[in-house]
Amino acid sequence: MTTWVGTSWKMNKTLSEARDYARTLAATDQGRWPGVQPFIIPPATALSAVSEVLGPRSHVLVGAQNAHWEDAGAWTGEVSVPQVADAGAQIVEIGHSERREFFAETDETVNLKVRATLRHGLTPLVCVGEPADVFASGGSVPYVIRQVRAALDGVGDVSAVLVAYEPIWAIGARGRPAAPSDIGDVLAALRTEWGGSVRGLLFGGSVDRSNARSILGVDGVDGLFVGRAAWEVDGLLELLDLVAGR
Ligand code: PEP
Repeated sequence: MTTWVGTSWKMNKTLSEARDYARTLAATDQGRWPGVQPFIIPPATALSAVSEVLGPRSHVLVGAQNAHWEDAGAWTGEVSVPQVADAGAQIVEIGHSERREFFAETDETVNLKVRATLRHGLTPLVCVGEPADVFASGGSVPYVIRQVRAALDGVGDVSAVLVAYEPIWAIGARGRPAAPSDIGDVLAALRTEWGGSVRGLLFGGSVDRSNARSILGVDGVDGLFVGRAAWEVDGLLELLDLVAGR
């Protein structure tokens, strides 16, 4: 079984910072983490630089934080799946809660982007997760299942799809780290519905070295999607070592 460990840098890092991070990663023995699939998701500006530094034989996958559903056209400010693929992306992150909240990402656009990503042979990393009030009222399972169903609507073969369960109340600087008991029901439901068919079910939200192992111990979790704790390369390396049992 593959355990996924990756990070999105969000809107952080200059080109030289991105190259430094990638250089350190590239200089680390690529056989160091058997059974672990590392990935990094830089901002679009650094995609090609990071891909070049890592090189074609790198074990580390590279992703884009977003891509439009159309291949080209009059969509000012957007980038398409063929463009991010051309810049070296193998993964496209779709539907992060920040994009849903601040950039009008809807279940419908998430679905369009999933289809576009698959059409071009890349891996969609679909982010789902409920807000704090839904969690508090016990509605997490139906909320998250509905989001995933909407994201995968009409997608026949989901075997290339990664799903990241990222409860909104657990992510970012104002997030509360989740206890395994907080997330077990949602992950069990995701596993029941898609566990055998998707490429992996990840968890994200305030994951760091202190809780990585216990989160990975939750039934259904195939990997960790990390923000702040892996924005410095040493943080990612530490998590990779920890997960690989080094
Ligand atoms: C995220 O925002 O997707 C995330 C996982 O961030 P953090 O790990 O910093 O909570």
